[in-house]
Amino acid sequence: MPKFIFVMGGVISGVGKGVTVASIATLLQARGFKVTAIKIDPYVNVDAGTMNPTEHGEVFVTEDGDETDQDIGNYERFLNTDIHRVNYMTTGRVYQSVIERERNLDYGGKCVEVVPHIPEEVIRRIRLATKKTGSEITIVEIGGTVGEYQNILFLEAARLMHYKDPNDCLFLLVTYLPIPGNLGEMKTKPTQYVVRQLNAAGIQPDFIICRSEEPVDEPRRKKISTFCSIPKDHVISNPDVESIYEVPLVLDRERFAEKIIKELNLKPKKKDLAAWQRMVKKLKNGSGTVKIGMIGKYFASGDFILPDAYISVIEAIKHAAAVNNVKAEIDWLNSDLYEKQPSAVKELKKYDGIIVPGGFGKRGVEGKILAIKYARENKIPFLGLCYGMQLATVEFARNVAKMAGANTTEINPKTKFPVIHIMADQSEKLAKKQYGNTMRLGGYPCFLTKGSKSFAAYGQKKISERHRHRYEFNNDFRKRLTAKGLLLAGLSPDGNLVEIVELPNHPFFVGTQFHPELKSRPLSPHPLFKEFIAAAKRLKK
Ligand code: GLN
Repeated sequence: MPKFIFVMGGVISGVGKGVTVASIATLLQARGFKVTAIKIDPYVNVDAGTMNPTEHGEVFVTEDGDETDQDIGNYERFLNTDIHRVNYMTTGRVYQSVIERERNLDYGGKCVEVVPHIPEEVIRRIRLATKKTGSEITIVEIGGTVGEYQNILFLEAARLMHYKDPNDCLFLLVTYLPIPGNLGEMKTKPTQYVVRQLNAAGIQPDFIICRSEEPVDEPRRKKISTFCSIPKDHVISNPDVESIYEVPLVLDRERFAEKIIKELNLKPKKKDLAAWQRMVKKLKNGSGTVKIGMIGKYFASGDFILPDAYISVIEAIKHAAAVNNVKAEIDWLNSDLYEKQPSAVKELKKYDGIIVPGGFGKRGVEGKILAIKYARENKIPFLGLCYGMQLATVEFARNVAKMAGANTTEINPKTKFPVIHIMADQSEKLAKKQYGNTMRLGGYPCFLTKGSKSFAAYGQKKISERHRHRYEFNNDFRKRLTAKGLLLAGLSPDGNLVEIVELPNHPFFVGTQFHPELKSRPLSPHPLFKEFIAAAKRLKK
């Protein structure tokens, strides 16, 4: 019989539920259990693919082409395994299935109701993912915050599963304990209110995980225990730490996995966290730094600058820095600035490496192209990811191959030199307004060119990487661009799609049509990021 752990969040969003889920999964996996994690997002969108990154953060693409939430990325990074479409659901997806079934008369003439039919579909999906992954313990992260309207049916699904199999289900609350500056004291009252709210939904947490700037002290453990009716040793301290990869170790010190295993009546197994511990040590102990500039445009949220839209890129840089024994200092640079003030691009002089990540649309594009030109001319290691690769091609066409006004047709459909153009099947989809989950998505094989930097980095000819795009390198310009020195370092197996471009006469200038950042994990950093950071380190020397 598989076991289920439901994880809910309280007090504020962004409290680190995803990382907590991934960390618990890591601890259980390190004890030999087969574990998987499911993310439930309460929005009506069928997937994250149709949302602006400034709204939602990064869209994480799975191997099987689902456009999901960044938490799925955390699960993959921590568990060092692929998570598939079946492990992700949204309100939209759940309702869509129920409505489709109703249209097919699958409910046999019954009145189809929000309760119980929606929670039943949620439960069906949880069980399906458990079966497909063969997991012994499935951790289900319920998105949103307890007390809001949107996730109530997911709580109801969890309650129903627990009601049916009380010995196989656990409830975890990840809460936030504020330490208001003017008081200087950690407060538990918001957590007490959240537990009341959960109780009203028929759920009593088995464990309360306390996120805060500081560890939870004895008096507050007691308070939470008394007022939330849970044993004191079920109050788990989870304070801020330097790196998210330390969280499993923090929770391990609380003997959290042992307590969970006991509550679920599972047989304890020997733990092996050695590789994880070594990795965290490496992450923290880098000697020296490399300065990396990330040129994007999805950073701003009101008056705040958030790196959320580029989370996998940032993590991939950190993984690669650790194996290179350095620390990466990353600056988020707004490409709009270079557009308004082209001379500002000179600030890139102080960076040891420059990344232009993925993106869409016109805003900031000319700024990114200026940054790419700067990296090319000044021999600063450069990594272009998806849009970054496409714009590197545009820059090369304009400034090296002298095709004035060269562009991607995403920006200028009438350009004389459409070096990047829409893929044939994609233009049909756009004409029919089929936007949702219709890009070229997920893992595709690619053959590397012998002698290229990419080939050297991977150390093999055949690779597979994940994609998310509608536009591609225009083969009509292959001859002219390669004649001027652009190297096509990776092609689809049929030779038709250009997946990597490089500049041989540059310390490191690589653009990939795919998103290598999606496959980088702390225990297996991505080869291209590894080489990029190595090149940055050499420049610094
Ligand atoms: N906008 C580009 C395309 O659709 C690049 C997409 C991306 O960077 N993910 O092809």
